Amino acid sequence: MTVQSDVLLSLQNVHVAYDGIIAALRGVSLEVKKGSIVALLGGNGAGKTTTLKAASGLLAAERGAVTVGNVLYQGRDSAHRDPRELVKAGLSQVLEGRHCFPHFSVEENLIAGALVRRPCRAELARKLDRVYQQFPKLKARRYSLAGLTSGGEQQMVAIGRALMAEPALLLLDEPSMGLAPLIIEEIFEIVKDLQTDDGVSVLLAEQNATLALRYADHGYVLENGRVCISGTGAQLAAREDVKEFYLGVERRGPGENRFSRMRARRRPAHAESVSS
Ligand code: ATP
Repeated sequence: MTVQSDVLLSLQNVHVAYDGIIAALRGVSLEVKKGSIVALLGGNGAGKTTTLKAASGLLAAERGAVTVGNVLYQGRDSAHRDPRELVKAGLSQVLEGRHCFPHFSVEENLIAGALVRRPCRAELARKLDRVYQQFPKLKARRYSLAGLTSGGEQQMVAIGRALMAEPALLLLDEPSMGLAPLIIEEIFEIVKDLQTDDGVSVLLAEQNATLALRYADHGYVLENGRVCISGTGAQLAAREDVKEFYLGVERRGPGENRFSRMRARRRPAHAESVSS
């Protein structure tokens, strides 16, 4: 019971289907402990976004559903709860693609994120101040139309808007997508500060495994809707197969070239865990 209370989000043997027939997840189990950053890695179509949406109650909007298994947030079923209710309960998702309201100012976008909690004027000002401390660049652009800001600033707006609801668990979908390396580093540093300064837990779907594993306490590698490898961030970053397949590092023996190694590649074993 004491151990359970440490776990903020838990997926237990979760299967998800879209339109009742497309099997996107085939028995995913994972957990996010309070105050931790957890990385969800894998290639295109592995099931990362679907896993996040299963947790945040957003599958129904895409004609998807959890068909088997349990999704528990703070010990309660979240797969079938209204996403707004989950935001109120502290679970917020930042969707892939930095969704902003382009014709609203940066500040109006941020304010939209707080409305679910119906804050009074003073409370709203306090939340805005906090987000501007976390993202000083947004304060400088507060009156600009969000659609006219850079890609990195739009990603900050999307994350800042989620923070206005003061989440305990933040689900981030591919925050690095399409951004320059320096901006990506800046965003990951802010995510790390959220964890250390505010105790926010983060479940992070990323294709940029090198970066994600530098910040993650724990990681899961998905392949074809299943967890094929899991372990601490350091364990995964040190594994040769993970390095080769997901971090883009090649090992070459004598007489081998890039192409002979590619032909000889072996996929990582399924359902393998390097830690419990
Ligand atoms: P990416 O990095 O490309 O976003 P992903 O790891 O996030 O990939 P998902 O988007 O979760 O993977 O997709 C998992 C599987 O579910 C894929 O086969 C995908 O085609 C399918 N899928 C995802 N969304 C839908 C949808 N709305 N309707 C039907 N099938 C979908």
